Amino acid sequence: TPKLSTGELKALVRTVPDFPEPGIQFRDITTLIGHSEGLSASVHHLAEIARAKGAQKIAGMEARGFIFGAAVAVQLGIGFVLVRKPGKLPVSTIGVDYALEYGTDRLEVDPGSITGGESIIIVDDLIATGGTALATAQLLRQAGGTVEDALFVIDLPDLGGAAKLQQAGVAVQTLMQFE
Ligand code: AMP
Repeated sequence: TPKLSTGELKALVRTVPDFPEPGIQFRDITTLIGHSEGLSASVHHLAEIARAKGAQKIAGMEARGFIFGAAVAVQLGIGFVLVRKPGKLPVSTIGVDYALEYGTDRLEVDPGSITGGESIIIVDDLIATGGTALATAQLLRQAGGTVEDALFVIDLPDLGGAAKLQQAGVAVQTLMQFE
């Protein structure tokens, strides 16, 4: 059992005002994962949810999703799927382009990293608008995975990401919220 509650974990997240641009409150996990028990307790709480959901594989998005997602996969003894930025994977990939506030971005996956029909749970550090996670769900489904759940350390509910995923048939659970 973890020594830190989710409330205690929330106190370990550092808020940096006006990064990366004026008006944004950046919720920084550097201090959470740097704490002796912060990373392991965060992973424990996420893994308990993923275990209850019957995850067969975890998918994490570059780069902070790799930290939490891979650790959850290790804790459950299941595989991990890399969801990468463009041009990083050495094989032919499938990709999805998605809109950002300014411009577009792209995520790619090796379709060989997914077995048809297996239940894949998405893990990332934070959900804001949900654009990244929605694109990831679409990509994993295109590759043949079953995607019904996404887990995040931090939710910014005012930005509506969880509601957006819910509409696409992806249930969202998070360890903490910042208004
Ligand atoms: P979104 O696609 O809008 O849900 O944004 C998700 C990604 O942007 C997350 O993986 C976060 O790492 C990052 N992000 C967006 N807003 C913030 C914020 N206020 N503080 C920290 N990271 C953020």
